[in-house]
Amino acid sequence: MTDAATTPQIAAERVAQLRAELDEHNYRYHVLDEPSIPDAEYDRLFHQLKALEAEYPQLITPDSPTQRVGSLALSAFGEVKHEVPMLSLGNAFEEDDLRDFDRRVREGLDLPVGDLFGGGAEVEYSCEPKLDGLAVSLLYENGLLVRGATRGDGSTGEDISVNVRTIRNIPLKLHGSGWPSVLEVRGEVFMSRAGFAALNARQLESGGKTFANPRNAAAGSLRQLDSRITASRPLELCAYGIGQVQGELPDNHIGILTALKGWGLPISRELQLAKGAEECLAYYRAIGAKRDALPYEIDGVVFKVNNLAYQRELGFRAREPRWAIAHKFPAMEELTELLDVEFQVGRTGAVTPVARLQPVRVAGVTVSNATLHNMDEVMRLGVMIGDTVIIRRAGDVIPQVVQVVAERRPADARPVHIPESCPVCGSRVERTQLIKRSKGKESVSEGSIYRCVGRLACAAQLKQAIIHYVSRRAMDIEGLGEKSVEQLVDEGLVRSPADLYTLKFEQLVGLEGFAELSANNLLAAIADSRQPSLARFIYALGIPDVGEETAKLLARALGSLQRIQQALPDVLTYLPDVGLEVAYEIRNFFDDAHNQQVIHDLLARGLELQEEGELSPEFAACATLAGFIDKLNISGIAATGAKNLAEKAASLDGVIALSQDWLELSVTKGLSEKAKQSLREFFAVEANIQRARAIEAQLREFGMHWQSEKRVVAGLPLAGQTWVLTGALEVMSRDLAKDKLESLGAKVAGSVSAKTTCVVAGPGAGSKLAKASELGLKVLDEEAFLAELAAYGVVA
Ligand code: NAD
Repeated sequence: MTDAATTPQIAAERVAQLRAELDEHNYRYHVLDEPSIPDAEYDRLFHQLKALEAEYPQLITPDSPTQRVGSLALSAFGEVKHEVPMLSLGNAFEEDDLRDFDRRVREGLDLPVGDLFGGGAEVEYSCEPKLDGLAVSLLYENGLLVRGATRGDGSTGEDISVNVRTIRNIPLKLHGSGWPSVLEVRGEVFMSRAGFAALNARQLESGGKTFANPRNAAAGSLRQLDSRITASRPLELCAYGIGQVQGELPDNHIGILTALKGWGLPISRELQLAKGAEECLAYYRAIGAKRDALPYEIDGVVFKVNNLAYQRELGFRAREPRWAIAHKFPAMEELTELLDVEFQVGRTGAVTPVARLQPVRVAGVTVSNATLHNMDEVMRLGVMIGDTVIIRRAGDVIPQVVQVVAERRPADARPVHIPESCPVCGSRVERTQLIKRSKGKESVSEGSIYRCVGRLACAAQLKQAIIHYVSRRAMDIEGLGEKSVEQLVDEGLVRSPADLYTLKFEQLVGLEGFAELSANNLLAAIADSRQPSLARFIYALGIPDVGEETAKLLARALGSLQRIQQALPDVLTYLPDVGLEVAYEIRNFFDDAHNQQVIHDLLARGLELQEEGELSPEFAACATLAGFIDKLNISGIAATGAKNLAEKAASLDGVIALSQDWLELSVTKGLSEKAKQSLREFFAVEANIQRARAIEAQLREFGMHWQSEKRVVAGLPLAGQTWVLTGALEVMSRDLAKDKLESLGAKVAGSVSAKTTCVVAGPGAGSKLAKASELGLKVLDEEAFLAELAAYGVVA
């Protein structure tokens, strides 16, 4: 709608201004792949221009963005002239826009339109999702892919042949037969949500540029001058149409797409036929309902008249066909103002910035807060309070600030600072540290998280800690919702999870939302939670980075709270999936006096943990001297060197002695000069000796020491057996097979003798297999071997 007060003079000025703006945005979007405003904002400007041009047709010029497609091609690529122009699509935003489109189609075809009571002829439409990526043209000659191009300005595109060849689901040669000798396939190159997330994670890690959304990522990846970059990006094609053709094709759109599918081109799984506008709308709603569940992003659905003769009859308008329309979904990105940044304190004390926004509707929901993740993200975005920002809300994901519209920054914008003290309890806020160890050296760097040091003295952390403690997967105490927890904390009735066990009936009934029955129920639920499994209890403690799975792992492997409390970070890293960072989180948690007090109080108030008490046999058997040396991370000594050293020195004392015996070390085989040098240097540092001895002492105390291996092995199912592996194993590497056998207590030998229990023979097995048959030994092929392992619960 145009302003009622608009005069032709003002309209002309506004048209010129809108064109300049839209041209700039088109260039940023189509050429640079770096739009500075969300699509919804672009569409609003575009529609303002369209409306003004409709009112003042004399202002229309052939170069107006409403008359043109895309933008000029980038000259760095070769040019491709499109024989059949690659057009844009008209848009429908409301259901009535779609009904109007259907009416125009029927009028254009001279079909009866009908009235309020029906009676019109129904047109068949193909229905497809509108993938949000970028259009490409793929030219096949005699079944071979000879050229790939972008849309460009619709008549001239960029030659991206080398790049499209790197996209794995684009066939370089058409399958089957019967294809036209010249066939130009058109489709959308896009990036799945998962591919996009993985790419951004990779970019973040390597310090590269991250992308605001999958469309920008797809466009930026495809239009690369270095095709190796394109090849490394998770791009996919979905074919949706054709351009020039020499040869025969079906006479309807769905028939053509089905033929393309038969020739190996991917098409949409959601492709459907609809009769009339109402069936199209039903399709629109159905796809809308599953929009968030689709593995890729879509911004609408596209309806095309299915009958090709009808399509020809309807023809084109300036920049779009009359026989197709895009029915858009609510935008997932919107513009709004960042009013303020507040800091929230989470369960582990992490102080995270949260954007307070001028409320805005995004994908059908009003958003007034969005996450900013952490201060590194604030820096990366370069966001300031007062900025106009792009908010993105994709699916169930928490709304995010993805970009700042730099050109709209006001003069009084303020920088975002992390508070020095906790906004809830006033305690100090500290930046976390990241500890990395490599080549025997520890390096400490700044983490991206800031934490309030107040622990449970901080009401925010205490509330979250209690909510977590009582949650279903933790202690499973029913009847204590978030509101009640807040009251208990605010009233000072609960100052630590241990206080739950001293709550009285009288204290509860006084609270809002509690009646006699619910108070009694809660007390009963609390009493019922007194005998948790060790895993639940560990999870309930809320150790940073320790989720349910890690808690189970800790409980199963170590068997007792006492061992978990004492375990050194290096010992914890013997657990699968526990890296040094998590190990340090666990260690720091148990070193903290405050946490020790909480655990002490919980046990003192009658909590009885259900513990196995024993170390799990796999964990007990997992430490070897070679592995231990490897874990010390001495520069130049990797797995093989560690193995050689372990064989030579036989014990930690032996290794230390060897490192100090220059003569003996110089004749030791299997170690490089550099490795020998760093071994000497490593054990010349007293702190390193102490650390190694402390780990060894703990392994011994826990019964994980290699010298005590025999004792542990005795309880394992294959204890006392000797196995031999020969020939090629296909599913499992030999090393892995050996590890698995050893974890079950077997010895794995290199040669066959009468003492051999069993021989595993893969293809190519020779003399060892012959000897085994000669001695009448048990022989298994790989399949039978895997089945036997599986019988002991060991999987490949
Ligand atoms: P469009 O994206 O609305 O529609 C045409 C395109 O849809 C085709 O070229 C094709 O690539 C794609 N498409 C996806 N699925 C399809 C299917 N099944 N059948 C046919 N086509 C299908 O139009 P457009 O002219 O390419 O660009 C306009 C879009 O780009 C708008 O969404 C606009 O918001 C956005 N844009 C944004 C900015 C910005 O600055 N943010 C600038 C320019 C354009």
